Amino acid sequence: MANYYEGDNQLNLNKIWQEALEEIAKNVSIISFDVWIKSLEVVDLKGNTLVLSTTSNSGKQTIIKNYKDIITSSVNKVHRAIGDVEIIVQSEPEEVEAEEPTSKTIKPAPQSALSSSFNPKYTFDTFVVGPSNQFVVAAAKSVAENPGASFNPLFIYGGVGLGKTHLLHAIGNYITETKPKLKVVYAPIDKFTGELTEALRTSKNGIISEFKNKYSKADVLIMDDIQSMIGREATQNEFFNIFNELHEHGKQIVVASDRPVSELKQLAERITSRLAWGILADIGYPELETRIAILNKKAYLERYNVSHEVINYIAESVTTNVREMEGMLTRVVFYAKMMNKNIVTMDVAREALKDIAVQSAETIDAGRIIDCVCKFYSIKKDELLGRKRTKDIALARQITMYLITELLSIPLEAVGRIFNKDHSTVIYAKRQISEECKKNRKLAVEINDMKQMLNGK
Ligand code: ADP
Ligand code: MG
Repeated sequence: MANYYEGDNQLNLNKIWQEALEEIAKNVSIISFDVWIKSLEVVDLKGNTLVLSTTSNSGKQTIIKNYKDIITSSVNKVHRAIGDVEIIVQSEPEEVEAEEPTSKTIKPAPQSALSSSFNPKYTFDTFVVGPSNQFVVAAAKSVAENPGASFNPLFIYGGVGLGKTHLLHAIGNYITETKPKLKVVYAPIDKFTGELTEALRTSKNGIISEFKNKYSKADVLIMDDIQSMIGREATQNEFFNIFNELHEHGKQIVVASDRPVSELKQLAERITSRLAWGILADIGYPELETRIAILNKKAYLERYNVSHEVINYIAESVTTNVREMEGMLTRVVFYAKMMNKNIVTMDVAREALKDIAVQSAETIDAGRIIDCVCKFYSIKKDELLGRKRTKDIALARQITMYLITELLSIPLEAVGRIFNKDHSTVIYAKRQISEECKKNRKLAVEINDMKQMLNGK
């Protein structure tokens, strides 16, 4: 049991309050916490009543109405002797009316706290646009500029580490900045599920109004990683209800998943069909040029001093995951610091990436790509490399050429030679497959899967 007494048995109220805050945070939304709870200050203990202060009368009313019970029970949980909480207004003149907080009565402080639930680094400005993501960025911007009016819901999907969360935060940052009155709620599904479970656990008679209020009062609801709803019935139910309520009232919904809707088969059909109501936008693997631009931007933003050679080297070695690529950049910068160098040069980078680089060079080569495609489509290697022209084989052959050009930096002539073709056939295959992927989701997913298999995931 923690010791809350200091000196002459004087209760350490601040310590109790800090622990109570942690307890409260589990039970209210991040936004409620940031706006209403975090700024409360401990004033005194009167009998068994903990006195807390806030800065405005309207804030006091809101807190009493919505959060007093949870604050009281949390404080009581931390220290049994405290059985009640009183909220007072301190240091700011009392406002005349105590009704609904209007934009006039809300202080700038809560507003900035509101936007803080989004990572300030994840904005549209810091997101590099290239052919692999220009469509999704356009859709995200349109939603951010006119929430509820254009694409609803906006469904973003793409592989791990390709910028989905970044874009969700960019939308959130943009809206909280340009339309501060809108209530923007962001939650990854895991958090949503956690809050729901907790609400159900602590609810008397199954009523979870605070949880429901948080989500269904949103003007913009942003949900991340919705593939995590699979296998979670209660989460799907609540999500379904909230979705309907918001959509009916023209509120904007944005979701992200690392699988396209068609691959979320294990979710209830009523959910997948709704997700498909709006617009589906996918983030593909960034091309080499985009990867270089992302690294340059990151180096610029973090004030890293990295040579172009190193940037190119990293961009060439990681093809399917921007987070991993950024990890390499951070690693080389760290190494340079350790070696007291103020610019990251190739020799530092080679040393820093020794283990990682060797691994990727060893694990992917044309032979492995060929094997992977053969296994994936259950065809024989000599058929794939032979002259047979049946539709399936010809397609698999084009996919193999496409994957080799995407994943390895080998000259096109060399790729052609593997198949006894010239480089124009390779160029044609590359174009065919990337065009086809735009129209044919199934193929796009299959290719993604193969890339992931090849990258050892
Ligand atoms: P996901 O949610 O798709 O797994 P994240 O949004 O977490 O991926 O992105 C991983 C990292 O890569 C983040 O640091 C993000 O800023 C960065 N990133 C991804 N794509 C881009 C891009 N196009 N421009 C700038 N940074 C990017
Ligand atoms: Mg993410």
